[in-house]
Amino acid sequence: MIKKERSIPLKLQKVEALARRLPVSHPKRALIEQELYNRRSGYRGEQSINYYLTFLPEKEYYILHSLRLPNHVGTFFQIDTMLISPYFITIIEVKNHGGTIRFDAKFNQLIQTHSNGNMKAYEDPISQVMRHQSQLKIWLQNNKFTGIPIHPLVVISNPSTIIETTGNSNHFKQIIHRTYLTFKMKELEKLYKVERFTKKEMTRLAKKLIKQHVPEKYNILHHFNIRPEEILTGVHCPKCSFLPMTRCYGKWICPSCKYSSKKAYEDSIMDYTFLLRTTITNKQFCDFLEVTSRTVATKLLRSMNLPHSGNTKGRVYYLEMQ
Ligand SMILES: [Zn+2]
Repeated sequence: MIKKERSIPLKLQKVEALARRLPVSHPKRALIEQELYNRRSGYRGEQSINYYLTFLPEKEYYILHSLRLPNHVGTFFQIDTMLISPYFITIIEVKNHGGTIRFDAKFNQLIQTHSNGNMKAYEDPISQVMRHQSQLKIWLQNNKFTGIPIHPLVVISNPSTIIETTGNSNHFKQIIHRTYLTFKMKELEKLYKVERFTKKEMTRLAKKLIKQHVPEKYNILHHFNIRPEEILTGVHCPKCSFLPMTRCYGKWICPSCKYSSKKAYEDSIMDYTFLLRTTITNKQFCDFLEVTSRTVATKLLRSMNLPHSGNTKGRVYYLEMQ
Protein backbone atom coordinates (compact mmCIF):
# COMPACT_ATOMS: atom_id res chain seq x y z
CA MET A 1 0.00 0.00 0.00
CA ILE A 2 1.47 3.34 -0.99
CA LYS A 3 1.50 5.63 2.03
CA LYS A 4 3.52 8.44 0.47
CA GLU A 5 3.51 8.96 -3.28
CA ARG A 6 6.53 9.90 -5.33
CA SER A 7 5.95 13.49 -6.38
CA ILE A 8 7.94 15.40 -8.99
CA PRO A 9 10.95 16.63 -6.99
CA LEU A 10 10.82 20.34 -6.25
CA LYS A 11 14.42 20.69 -7.44
CA LEU A 12 13.48 19.24 -10.83
CA GLN A 13 10.48 21.58 -11.11
CA LYS A 14 12.74 24.53 -10.30
CA VAL A 15 15.34 23.52 -12.89
CA GLU A 16 12.54 23.11 -15.47
CA ALA A 17 11.29 26.61 -14.68
CA LEU A 18 14.80 28.02 -14.97
CA ALA A 19 15.48 26.21 -18.26
CA ARG A 20 12.25 27.70 -19.66
CA ARG A 21 13.15 31.19 -18.59
CA LEU A 22 16.84 31.50 -19.32
CA PRO A 23 17.64 33.28 -22.61
CA VAL A 24 18.94 30.95 -25.35
CA SER A 25 22.24 32.83 -25.45
CA HIS A 26 22.76 32.86 -21.68
CA PRO A 27 26.30 31.69 -20.73
CA LYS A 28 24.89 29.20 -18.19
CA ARG A 29 22.41 27.68 -20.66
CA ALA A 30 24.43 24.49 -21.30
CA LEU A 31 25.03 23.98 -17.58
CA ILE A 32 21.32 24.30 -16.77
CA GLU A 33 20.36 21.97 -19.62
CA GLN A 34 22.81 19.36 -18.34
CA GLU A 35 21.35 19.76 -14.85
CA LEU A 36 17.84 19.34 -16.29
CA TYR A 37 18.89 16.21 -18.17
CA ASN A 38 20.47 14.67 -15.05
CA ARG A 39 17.54 15.46 -12.79
CA ARG A 40 14.97 14.21 -15.31
CA SER A 41 16.82 10.97 -15.83
CA GLY A 42 17.23 10.49 -12.06
CA TYR A 43 13.49 11.01 -11.58
CA ARG A 44 12.63 8.66 -14.45
CA GLY A 45 14.90 6.06 -12.84
CA GLU A 46 13.09 6.39 -9.51
CA GLN A 47 9.70 6.18 -11.21
CA SER A 48 10.73 3.10 -13.14
CA ILE A 49 10.94 0.97 -9.97
CA ASN A 50 7.25 1.64 -9.20
CA TYR A 51 6.22 -1.13 -11.60
CA TYR A 52 8.32 -3.72 -9.72
CA LEU A 53 6.89 -2.60 -6.39
CA THR A 54 3.36 -3.41 -7.61
CA PHE A 55 4.27 -7.11 -7.34
CA LEU A 56 4.72 -6.86 -3.58
CA PRO A 57 1.76 -8.10 -1.52
CA GLU A 58 -0.30 -4.96 -1.02
CA LYS A 59 -1.27 -5.72 2.58
CA GLU A 60 2.20 -6.73 3.76
CA TYR A 61 4.10 -3.62 2.73
CA TYR A 62 3.73 0.08 3.30
CA ILE A 63 5.57 2.05 0.62
CA LEU A 64 6.87 5.56 1.23
CA HIS A 65 8.67 7.50 -1.47
CA SER A 66 10.93 10.57 -1.29
CA LEU A 67 11.37 11.02 2.44
CA ARG A 68 13.61 13.70 3.90
CA LEU A 69 13.96 13.32 7.64
CA PRO A 70 15.78 15.26 10.35
CA ASN A 71 18.68 13.35 11.86
CA HIS A 72 20.24 13.46 15.34
CA VAL A 73 22.90 16.03 14.41
CA GLY A 74 20.53 18.70 13.13
CA THR A 75 20.77 17.99 9.39
CA PHE A 76 18.65 15.79 7.14
CA PHE A 77 18.83 12.47 5.34
CA GLN A 78 16.92 11.51 2.25
CA ILE A 79 15.47 8.13 1.38
CA ASP A 80 14.32 7.44 -2.20
CA THR A 81 11.96 4.60 -1.22
CA MET A 82 11.18 2.92 2.08
CA LEU A 83 9.31 -0.39 2.40
CA ILE A 84 7.87 -1.23 5.79
CA SER A 85 6.77 -4.80 6.47
CA PRO A 86 5.82 -6.41 9.81
CA TYR A 87 9.27 -8.09 9.82
CA PHE A 88 11.77 -5.51 8.55
CA ILE A 89 12.31 -2.19 6.81
CA THR A 90 13.99 -1.89 3.42
CA ILE A 91 15.52 1.39 2.29
CA ILE A 92 16.23 1.79 -1.40
CA GLU A 93 18.65 4.14 -3.10
CA VAL A 94 17.90 4.32 -6.84
CA LYS A 95 20.71 4.98 -9.31
CA ASN A 96 20.18 5.58 -12.99
CA HIS A 97 23.77 5.58 -14.28
CA GLY A 98 24.09 4.20 -17.79
CA GLY A 99 27.02 2.46 -19.53
CA THR A 100 29.25 0.31 -17.34
CA ILE A 101 29.46 0.99 -13.61
CA ARG A 102 32.12 -0.49 -11.41
CA PHE A 103 31.86 -0.66 -7.64
CA ASP A 104 35.29 -0.44 -6.10
CA ALA A 105 35.47 -2.09 -2.65
CA LYS A 106 38.94 -0.76 -1.87
CA PHE A 107 38.33 2.94 -2.45
CA ASN A 108 34.56 2.93 -1.88
CA GLN A 109 33.72 4.66 -5.09
CA LEU A 110 31.62 4.11 -8.14
CA ILE A 111 33.22 4.52 -11.56
CA GLN A 112 31.02 4.98 -14.59
CA THR A 113 32.37 4.32 -18.09
CA HIS A 114 30.34 5.63 -21.03
CA SER A 115 30.25 3.87 -24.39
CA ASN A 116 32.66 6.54 -25.75
CA GLY A 117 35.23 5.60 -23.10
CA ASN A 118 34.70 8.68 -20.90
CA MET A 119 34.93 7.88 -17.21
CA LYS A 120 33.40 9.55 -14.19
CA ALA A 121 33.67 8.81 -10.47
CA TYR A 122 30.77 9.10 -8.05
CA GLU A 123 30.27 8.73 -4.35
CA ASP A 124 29.72 5.07 -3.52
CA PRO A 125 25.93 4.49 -3.28
CA ILE A 126 26.49 1.57 -0.88
CA SER A 127 28.20 3.85 1.63
CA GLN A 128 25.44 6.37 1.01
CA VAL A 129 22.57 3.96 1.71
CA MET A 130 24.39 2.52 4.74
CA ARG A 131 24.77 6.03 6.11
CA HIS A 132 21.01 6.43 5.70
CA GLN A 133 20.55 3.10 7.45
CA SER A 134 22.48 4.22 10.54
CA GLN A 135 20.67 7.56 10.64
CA LEU A 136 17.30 5.84 10.31
CA LYS A 137 18.24 3.44 13.10
CA ILE A 138 18.82 6.35 15.46
CA TRP A 139 15.68 8.10 14.19
CA LEU A 140 13.63 4.96 14.95
CA GLN A 141 15.14 4.66 18.44
CA ASN A 142 14.46 8.32 19.17
CA ASN A 143 10.87 7.82 18.05
CA LYS A 144 10.43 4.70 20.21
CA PHE A 145 10.55 2.06 17.52
CA THR A 146 13.19 -0.42 18.58
CA GLY A 147 14.64 -3.68 17.32
CA ILE A 148 13.49 -3.36 13.72
CA PRO A 149 16.06 -4.61 11.17
CA ILE A 150 16.79 -2.17 8.34
CA HIS A 151 17.99 -3.66 5.07
CA PRO A 152 19.64 -1.22 2.63
CA LEU A 153 19.51 -1.78 -1.15
CA VAL A 154 20.98 0.01 -4.15
CA VAL A 155 18.73 -0.46 -7.17
CA ILE A 156 20.16 0.21 -10.61
CA SER A 157 17.18 1.44 -12.58
CA ASN A 158 18.69 1.52 -16.06
CA PRO A 159 18.16 -2.00 -17.52
CA SER A 160 21.06 -1.74 -19.96
CA THR A 161 23.66 -0.77 -17.33
CA ILE A 162 26.49 -3.29 -16.96
CA ILE A 163 27.42 -3.74 -13.31
CA GLU A 164 30.98 -4.72 -12.38
CA THR A 165 32.81 -4.96 -9.08
CA THR A 166 36.44 -4.69 -8.00
CA GLY A 167 37.68 -6.38 -4.84
CA ASN A 168 35.51 -8.26 -2.41
CA SER A 169 32.80 -6.89 -0.25
CA ASN A 170 29.84 -8.39 1.54
CA HIS A 171 27.92 -5.30 0.64
CA PHE A 172 27.97 -6.05 -3.10
CA LYS A 173 24.91 -8.21 -2.64
CA GLN A 174 23.00 -5.07 -1.77
CA ILE A 175 23.30 -3.93 -5.39
CA ILE A 176 20.59 -5.20 -7.72
CA HIS A 177 19.08 -4.45 -11.09
CA ARG A 178 15.52 -3.19 -10.82
CA THR A 179 14.11 -6.34 -12.46
CA TYR A 180 15.39 -8.39 -9.52
CA LEU A 181 13.73 -6.23 -6.87
CA THR A 182 10.67 -8.43 -6.32
CA PHE A 183 12.83 -11.58 -6.02
CA LYS A 184 15.21 -9.79 -3.65
CA MET A 185 12.28 -8.95 -1.41
CA LYS A 186 11.30 -12.64 -1.38
CA GLU A 187 14.88 -13.48 -0.28
CA LEU A 188 14.68 -10.90 2.49
CA GLU A 189 11.34 -12.26 3.67
CA LYS A 190 13.12 -15.57 4.29
CA LEU A 191 15.91 -13.80 6.14
CA TYR A 192 13.75 -11.75 8.51
CA LYS A 193 11.19 -14.03 10.07
CA VAL A 194 10.51 -12.46 13.44
CA GLU A 195 7.44 -10.27 13.48
CA ARG A 196 8.43 -6.86 14.86
CA PHE A 197 5.37 -4.80 14.07
CA THR A 198 1.64 -4.93 14.43
CA LYS A 199 -0.42 -3.27 11.68
CA LYS A 200 -1.24 -0.53 14.15
CA GLU A 201 2.46 0.15 14.80
CA MET A 202 3.24 0.10 11.09
CA THR A 203 0.55 2.73 10.57
CA ARG A 204 1.87 4.79 13.48
CA LEU A 205 5.38 4.66 12.01
CA ALA A 206 4.20 5.63 8.50
CA LYS A 207 2.25 8.58 9.93
CA LYS A 208 5.24 9.72 11.96
CA LEU A 209 7.58 9.52 8.96
CA ILE A 210 5.20 11.57 6.81
CA LYS A 211 4.78 14.11 9.59
CA GLN A 212 8.54 14.53 10.00
CA HIS A 213 9.24 14.77 6.27
CA VAL A 214 10.72 18.19 5.48
CA PRO A 215 10.87 19.31 1.82
CA GLU A 216 14.25 20.68 0.85
CA LYS A 217 14.71 24.42 0.53
CA TYR A 218 16.53 25.26 -2.66
CA ASN A 219 17.17 28.76 -3.96
CA ILE A 220 18.00 27.89 -7.53
CA LEU A 221 19.07 31.38 -8.70
CA HIS A 222 21.41 31.64 -5.75
CA HIS A 223 22.72 28.13 -6.41
CA PHE A 224 23.64 28.93 -10.02
CA ASN A 225 24.57 32.54 -9.29
CA ILE A 226 21.97 33.96 -11.67
CA ARG A 227 20.37 37.36 -11.04
CA PRO A 228 16.54 37.72 -11.11
CA GLU A 229 16.92 40.31 -13.92
CA GLU A 230 18.42 37.63 -16.15
CA ILE A 231 15.16 35.64 -16.09
CA LEU A 232 12.73 35.99 -19.01
CA THR A 233 9.33 37.38 -18.06
CA GLY A 234 5.94 36.86 -19.71
CA VAL A 235 3.41 34.02 -19.78
CA HIS A 236 4.80 30.78 -21.18
CA CYS A 237 2.73 28.28 -23.14
CA PRO A 238 1.66 25.39 -20.85
CA LYS A 239 1.69 23.08 -23.88
CA CYS A 240 4.98 23.86 -25.66
CA SER A 241 6.74 26.24 -23.21
CA PHE A 242 7.00 28.99 -25.87
CA LEU A 243 7.60 32.40 -24.27
CA PRO A 244 5.85 34.86 -24.37
CA MET A 245 2.23 34.10 -25.23
CA THR A 246 0.20 37.05 -26.43
CA ARG A 247 -2.88 38.30 -24.60
CA CYS A 248 -5.97 38.91 -26.68
CA TYR A 249 -9.56 39.41 -25.48
CA GLY A 250 -8.88 37.93 -22.05
CA LYS A 251 -7.05 34.87 -23.39
CA TRP A 252 -3.40 34.00 -23.82
CA ILE A 253 -2.51 32.66 -27.25
CA CYS A 254 0.66 30.77 -28.14
CA PRO A 255 2.18 32.12 -31.37
CA SER A 256 4.02 28.84 -31.82
CA CYS A 257 1.48 26.02 -31.25
CA LYS A 258 -1.71 28.19 -31.28
CA TYR A 259 -2.85 26.86 -27.91
CA SER A 260 -5.06 29.37 -26.16
CA SER A 261 -6.30 29.56 -22.59
CA LYS A 262 -7.64 32.06 -20.09
CA LYS A 263 -5.70 30.27 -17.35
CA ALA A 264 -2.30 29.99 -19.06
CA TYR A 265 -0.86 32.50 -16.56
CA GLU A 266 -1.27 30.06 -13.66
CA ASP A 267 1.71 27.95 -14.77
CA SER A 268 3.82 31.09 -15.07
CA ILE A 269 2.87 32.04 -11.52
CA MET A 270 4.30 28.67 -10.50
CA ASP A 271 7.55 29.59 -12.30
CA TYR A 272 7.59 32.86 -10.37
CA THR A 273 7.25 30.84 -7.14
CA PHE A 274 9.95 28.36 -8.15
CA LEU A 275 12.44 31.03 -9.17
CA LEU A 276 11.76 34.17 -7.17
CA ARG A 277 9.56 34.13 -4.09
CA THR A 278 6.32 32.82 -2.60
CA THR A 279 4.62 36.20 -2.20
CA ILE A 280 3.37 38.45 -4.98
CA THR A 281 2.01 41.97 -5.21
CA ASN A 282 -0.02 43.47 -8.03
CA LYS A 283 3.10 45.21 -9.38
CA GLN A 284 5.21 42.03 -9.26
CA PHE A 285 2.39 40.18 -11.03
CA CYS A 286 2.31 42.83 -13.80
CA ASP A 287 6.11 42.83 -14.16
CA PHE A 288 6.57 39.06 -14.24
CA LEU A 289 3.64 38.22 -16.49
CA GLU A 290 3.99 41.39 -18.63
CA VAL A 291 0.41 42.38 -17.88
CA THR A 292 -0.03 46.08 -18.57
CA SER A 293 -3.29 46.66 -16.71
CA ARG A 294 -3.33 46.71 -12.91
CA THR A 295 -7.11 46.14 -13.02
CA VAL A 296 -6.64 42.95 -15.04
CA ALA A 297 -3.89 41.86 -12.61
CA THR A 298 -6.18 42.45 -9.61
CA LYS A 299 -8.98 40.49 -11.26
CA LEU A 300 -6.70 37.55 -12.07
CA LEU A 301 -5.06 37.53 -8.64
CA ARG A 302 -8.46 37.58 -6.94
CA SER A 303 -9.70 34.73 -9.11
CA MET A 304 -6.89 32.56 -7.73
CA ASN A 305 -8.39 32.79 -4.20
CA LEU A 306 -4.99 33.18 -2.57
CA PRO A 307 -4.51 34.02 1.09
CA HIS A 308 -3.49 37.66 1.36
CA SER A 309 -2.69 40.49 3.73
CA GLY A 310 -2.70 44.27 3.54
CA ASN A 311 -5.17 46.69 2.04
CA THR A 312 -6.19 46.81 -1.62
CA LYS A 313 -3.24 48.90 -2.77
CA GLY A 314 -0.35 47.25 -0.95
CA ARG A 315 -1.90 43.80 -0.84
CA VAL A 316 0.49 40.86 -0.67
CA TYR A 317 -0.73 37.47 -1.91
CA TYR A 318 0.75 34.21 -0.61
CA LEU A 319 1.51 31.57 -3.19
CA GLU A 320 1.64 27.97 -2.14
CA MET A 321 4.56 25.81 -3.16
CA GLN A 322 3.34 22.46 -4.45
ZN1 LIG B 1 2.56 26.60 -27.42
